[in-house]
Amino acid sequence: MKPPAFTYHRPTDLDEALAVLAEVGHDGKVLAGGQSLVPLLNMRLAAPAHLVDVNRLAGLAHIRREDGHVVVGALARHTDVERDPGAFAAVPLLRQATACVAHPAIRNRGTTVGSLVHADPAAELPAVLAVLNGSVELASAAGTRSVPAGEFFLGPLESAVRPGELAVAARFPVPPPRTGSAWLELSRRHGDYALAGAGVLVTLDADRRVAAARAGLVAVGPTPVVVDLTGAVAGQPFDAADWAAAGALAAGATEPEDDIHATAAYRRHLVSVLVARATAEAARRAS
Ligand SMILES: Cc1cc2nc3c(=O)[nH]c(=O)nc-3n(C[C@H](O)[C@H](O)[C@H](O)COP(=O)(O)OP(=O)(O)OC[C@H]3O[C@@H](n4cnc5c(N)ncnc54)[C@H](O)[C@@H]3O)c2cc1C
Repeated sequence: MKPPAFTYHRPTDLDEALAVLAEVGHDGKVLAGGQSLVPLLNMRLAAPAHLVDVNRLAGLAHIRREDGHVVVGALARHTDVERDPGAFAAVPLLRQATACVAHPAIRNRGTTVGSLVHADPAAELPAVLAVLNGSVELASAAGTRSVPAGEFFLGPLESAVRPGELAVAARFPVPPPRTGSAWLELSRRHGDYALAGAGVLVTLDADRRVAAARAGLVAVGPTPVVVDLTGAVAGQPFDAADWAAAGALAAGATEPEDDIHATAAYRRHLVSVLVARATAEAARRAS
């Protein structure tokens, strides 16, 4: 399959990119790693008149620690994030989840920020941003704005990025001390999008009892689903908490749909099992 004809733009700095995006407005699409957009073009599910390739913009491939966050620039590839020792030390969930994104060839090219903007409900990184209460920095010719994760994911393949805007970075908050995390998912074949997945954070108190627990779930709703699990396990010892109750709480908070890949009941069952296992592992790591 070949994409429909488009005008190709390749700006070399941010101001030029924002000027082009302002000019082309609704008719334009940003091209980052191309791992989601190019298939959509080739299958003719998207037909933008203008493609704005941002790969030559300097200074957007950073991954840095800033004000209690790991900040990931628009051109940092999944592989860069996965391998970054500072990002792993500060927010281990980033590596735990990114390692489950597709295959190495796709992770070498696809960007973390592109994955957020693409907003696939089965993708890992949107759930990571959501469970951490992170945010996305957007720039346009008119200025900048920051959108919290809770307002960023609007629906399947729909994010808060407006025509003319470029997502320049994502900010992932560093969890509090004594927090452990884990990512678990199930897919039919290694590297496929998950039938269901869970990223969890468990925070312990000084006596190693559960102080807080949260899950970010994928493929069980139109956007990432975040569930506060604290009520099911608060005050319980890290090695003997009722993690099955946490799993049941998470499953009860989802409303998945039947599709060709799995039934809703099976997806809900997966959530209960994955969350129970992931929270137990996260608590062990926190201890
Ligand atoms: C076979 C295959 C399997 C995959 N499996 C998974 C998987 O298991 N989990 C998963 O999460 N992903 C998976 N992906 C998708 C992959 O992770 C992509 O890298 C990611 O979804 C998009 O990143 P990208 O940089 O390639 O974005 P692109 O494809 O370039 O763009 C995607 C969309 O985001 C917009 N966009 C991108 N960057 C910006 C920006 N900075 N500002 C504004 N708009 C922007 C584009 O206009 C486009 O609409 C898979 C892809 C393939 C081909």
